[in-house]
Formats: sequence, C-alpha cells, structure tokens
Amino acid sequence: RTVYVNGEFVPEEEAKISVFDRAFLMADGVYEVTSVLDGKLIDFPGHMARLHRSLNELKMKPARTDDELLAIHRELIARNDLESGMIYLQITRGAADRDFIWPTDAEPGIVLFTQAKEQVNAATAKTGLKVITVEDQRWARRDIKTVQLLFPSFAKMEAKAAGKDDAWLVTDGEVNEGTSNNAYIVKNDVIITRNLSNDILHGITRAAVLRFAREAQMKVEERAFTVEEAKAADEAFCTSASAFVTAIVEIDGATISAGEPGPIAARLREVYIDESRKTAI
Ligand code: PMP
Repeated sequence: RTVYVNGEFVPEEEAKISVFDRAFLMADGVYEVTSVLDGKLIDFPGHMARLHRSLNELKMKPARTDDELLAIHRELIARNDLESGMIYLQITRGAADRDFIWPTDAEPGIVLFTQAKEQVNAATAKTGLKVITVEDQRWARRDIKTVQLLFPSFAKMEAKAAGKDDAWLVTDGEVNEGTSNNAYIVKNDVIITRNLSNDILHGITRAAVLRFAREAQMKVEERAFTVEEAKAADEAFCTSASAFVTAIVEIDGATISAGEPGPIAARLREVYIDESRKTAI
C-alpha cells in the first residue's frame, strides 16, 4: 500500500514519523475517516467542515487546504486501486521536545492511508449488531475528533470479551453514543437520537441520515434516551462513515426487533447508500 506522510507518497514500509510527534506522545492530533464507494469519496465537504472545527477547538493549524487534501485523497484512491473502503486522515500538532506547553511554530504532521473493506454488502448489514452498555469514562470534549481513543477501545474489548459486537457508552442511565458511531432507537415510528452537544461526536453520517429521514417525512426527535427505553424500543441502529446505517438487534441481552434489522433501519441504510452514491466525488 502507498501511504501519504508529511508531503510524500511512500510505500507503507518506508513511511517514517518522528518519535517526538505530539500525537504519538500526547494524543495531540485530530482525524477524519471518509468512506470510499465506487472509488469516490462520500460527503468529503462534511468531513472537511468537521476537521476545521476540531482543529479550531484545539488551536491547531490546518496542514493543507481542502483542495490539497482532496487531491491527496484522490491520489491515494488511484495509487491503491481503492473501490470500497475508507481513507484515514490524521493531522497532528507536529514534533517538538516533550512539554505540556505546546510549540506554536511546529510544522503540523499529516498522515493518510487507505483501508479496503466491503461496505455495501458487509455481513453485519444482514445480521445487525449486539451491544452491551458501559459507563462512559471519556473526557468531556467528545465533539472534538481527537486520536485519544483508549477508552472507546477498552469498551469495545469489553464487548468482545462478552461475545458482543460493540458498546454503547452511557452517562446517568442515558445513552451517549457507540464506541465509534452514533446511536438511535425507534419507538412508534419516531427516530430518537441524542441531541448534539460536547457529549457526543457530531457524526457526518448522523447529519445525512437525519436529513434523509426528514425529507422522507419520518419523525425525528433529537433528545437523550435511556438504556431502559432502548431495551423496549421497536428498533435500534447506529451510524458512522464506515458502517453507514447498521441495525442493533440486542442491547444488554434484550432482543430488539425480533433479533433482525428492523424496517426503518433497513430503509435508512438503503436511502443513505443511494444518496451517497449520487453525491460522492
Ligand atoms: N461517534 C464516535 C465516538 C465516533 O468515533 C464516530 C466515528 N468517527 C461517530 C460517532 C460517527 O461519526 P461519522 O458518522 O462522522 O463517522
């Protein structure tokens, strides 16, 4: 595979970054994951808008213009013959002597790589996912997409140890989101998902799916919901750039929608894929 590191396209075995890069020492970096379908990028402008928001919140410099980033994404797709999968982009504050005070003049670090993956026909699209709930112990700025992913990784390992697929992260009995996706329930044909705040990541897929749902005259409520409400829901699902819309069929051992993807989740997945295909660049 060819990867992009600090201005150069190189074979992954030859890629090098500094041991003093602050992302490595202090998780001082932000990232985006953009899906590739039919060799094209899904919702690239949305990912760029959120990248700028993350950079601004952390007083970091954008390493490249959006046009330059688009060109790098496209070059990687071409060099790696990527039809279906994702592109990971990471921007770091750069390399400097280890210090809690960060340098204001460091050259930002930038890394991109591709990962091939069958998405439209992913096995989990048919089976759905089983989740456990875990007390959310992440920091309080989950709206910033930083590379500090130890707790979500820990929670997902707990799910795996329990024989399940993912964990929903919970505060005071209310569901924030999944380890790497936004969480939804459906009750009496109303789609319910937590409102945007610093408590959750502002999912690019979430924004698109809610827009499509409203355009299709489906009812949407953006509010917190409890684990108890979720276990009694008609359907549940999650959204992310890499999993699109994926049904949840079990929550803490309680079966949801007879253990199969429900009709609303299935329809939203179809609409999301159709619309994304039309607007991919
Ligand atoms: N929440 C968290 C914690 C995530 O890591 C992700 C995926 N990056 C999402 C939600 C979904 O966001 P998106 O739809 O932009 O991929």
